[in-house]
Amino acid sequence: MSDTSVLILSGGLDSTTLLYDLINQRKIVHAISFHYGQRHSKELVCARETCEKLGVNHKIVDLSGLSEILKSSLTTPDIEVPEGHYSDENMAITVVPGRNTIFLSIAAGYAASINADAVYLGNHSGDHAIYSDCRPEYIEAMRKVLQLFDNKIINLYTPYLNIDKTEILTRGLALDVDYSLTWTCYQGRNKACGKCGSCTERFEAFELNNATDPIEYEE
Ligand SMILES: [Zn+2]
Repeated sequence: MSDTSVLILSGGLDSTTLLYDLINQRKIVHAISFHYGQRHSKELVCARETCEKLGVNHKIVDLSGLSEILKSSLTTPDIEVPEGHYSDENMAITVVPGRNTIFLSIAAGYAASINADAVYLGNHSGDHAIYSDCRPEYIEAMRKVLQLFDNKIINLYTPYLNIDKTEILTRGLALDVDYSLTWTCYQGRNKACGKCGSCTERFEAFELNNATDPIEYEE
């Protein structure tokens, strides 16, 4: 084992916590982020700043052309981001078709190229209902794909698969994660909207942890 890993870092709360978690476990981590035309590309600035702060090697891959072919409220400017809780049906429009399959393929290719033997993804149980490419059966299938991906085995790890955002935050607060350098809101505005499904979930997680979110929300 080389003990070198590639982490898919979105710049959001979950993958940023996972980055701190892996560093805490003394793993050598290379972070990879994707610009896929997301309206909330501010998360990439956060990802970059977190990696600079922690001295982590970081690549941002430009896949911005994807927004021309993938229909989702996160990438298509004239489809509005819905407000409300994730359990609401209208959140389905925030699915970016094929996103994790695309990201995992590229991350695994990167891992093979730098002699890393693992890819980490920070998906969690709260993603399962709406995002099919975050569910256990999908992860299990992709785990097999990545093991057959190259002449060397790339392992896929999703340590937060069965915990939710609140538990991830509990972990991160103990690890002293700088959450001011994370971006969760699906809107691409200056401050977080506080109303989209992603903001709602983040808000609840801080509340349930009796913690204060260091980022600013719109009035
Ligand atoms: Zn929001």
